[in-house]
Amino acid sequence: MRVAAIDQGTTSTRCLVVEADGAAWLAASLTHGQRHPAPGWVEHDPRELLRNIRAVLAAAGPVDAIALANQGESCLAWDAVSGEALSPVIVWQDSRTTDALAARSCEDVIRSRAICGLPLDPYFSASKLAWLVENIPAVATARANGRLRLGTTDAYFLDQLTGTFATDLATASRTGLLDLSTGLWSDELCALHGVPRTFLPCIRPSDSGFGQIDGVPVKVSIVDQQAALYGHGCRAPGEAKITFGTGAFLLAVAGPARPDTAGLLPTIAWQCKGEAPVFAVEGGVYDAGAALEWLRRLGLFSQTQELDGFKGPSALSRGLVFVPALSGLAAPYWDRKAAPLFIGMEASTDRRDMVRAALEGIALLTVGLIEAAEAGRGNITDISIDGGLSRSRSFATFLAAASGRAIKVPELHEMTALGLAALCGAETGAARAAFRRFEPDGSVSAQDHARFREAVKKCRNWRA
Ligand code: ADP
Repeated sequence: MRVAAIDQGTTSTRCLVVEADGAAWLAASLTHGQRHPAPGWVEHDPRELLRNIRAVLAAAGPVDAIALANQGESCLAWDAVSGEALSPVIVWQDSRTTDALAARSCEDVIRSRAICGLPLDPYFSASKLAWLVENIPAVATARANGRLRLGTTDAYFLDQLTGTFATDLATASRTGLLDLSTGLWSDELCALHGVPRTFLPCIRPSDSGFGQIDGVPVKVSIVDQQAALYGHGCRAPGEAKITFGTGAFLLAVAGPARPDTAGLLPTIAWQCKGEAPVFAVEGGVYDAGAALEWLRRLGLFSQTQELDGFKGPSALSRGLVFVPALSGLAAPYWDRKAAPLFIGMEASTDRRDMVRAALEGIALLTVGLIEAAEAGRGNITDISIDGGLSRSRSFATFLAAASGRAIKVPELHEMTALGLAALCGAETGAARAAFRRFEPDGSVSAQDHARFREAVKKCRNWRA
């Protein structure tokens, strides 16, 4: 079977072709615009994303199956009849609903956690969908006319490409509207947010088939992070992966029951046809690559190669710390008012020191995630990483030291696409076999960890 695995991510849309023998090659990769119309707002143009999906798929040539990974919480509204987008894609990073959610009662917060496992945070789709309904006149009109469709980006792409208005259980678990105990949309949470349930897509297993594009079946649709977990070969409880892209996301397989999560979040890893859902523990750092790109815009570095090859003691051990909280702090802090912080500069500190401190800060925030994941569900036995930052040996070396664990880096970086192909039932063993291992070298001390914790404390609750 030849699979076109399309990864519609935050910064790009990629298509990897996985051949029958397990070999994989990149057919095409296209970036798209990032719009920031107001502070804290992040939008994509849905038509541009759809065009890019069509273009990367065309570059794949003839295939037997298509699989699609989506951005997760990013969502939009469109017209059920014309298919016309009625809003931009509001991207997961967008924090426009912070104030609306802060005004919610404690009881609302507790009900949300109990039903869908998620806090009332602007990261998830629920408050974004409510914002669309309340603030965009065309969305309100479509609602009144019964022509509205609301959903995460996958539901929009599938509706436009195959005529199937559906999402999968794993993506649905990222919205803040799913009842984890039933696998259905929660009436109570839809009412709490003001999201009309009738306009949401139907929920299916991740590999249940989502229609056809030019006669080729779309076999799989799932969130990118969950696809990557599968692609890393993580199947058993305690096996975890961290993807370091725009944000950093840890997912650890938890098994068939909803896990206790100690500050992290329960989520659905995947559900295969005829099987029970598999749960995972999830935690994210909002700004990983996003923090690096900010430093690049400021002129602290220009080429990605400059994010590697650091020599001598860490910036942290020299007292220079960066907390990459550009969008606030995610799990386990859930503090949107936290602000980025550089501390400990000296007259001799140069750009390269600042860049190094940024990489270390990203790694240290994710160590917090690993520890929280263990507190919730027992030992994390196996950590594999991918995403842009995993290409930096300095980064992987520091992460091993800071976490005190061996870090595995697959030779092939397109784990999301490999997971998609594997979920389609394609043989991906050959492509998955090779890993580089980075062992902990004891270079990050308890005092270093304490210093970083102190910096995190200082950056919290800073914004008005
Ligand atoms: P996404 O899937 O979220 O679009 P990627 O996985 O492509 O993101 O990662 C992009 C990020 O990785 C960029 O922000 C960039 O700063 C960082 N990056 C890319 N190449 C390297 C590298 N060789 N070393 C370190 N960081 C890198």
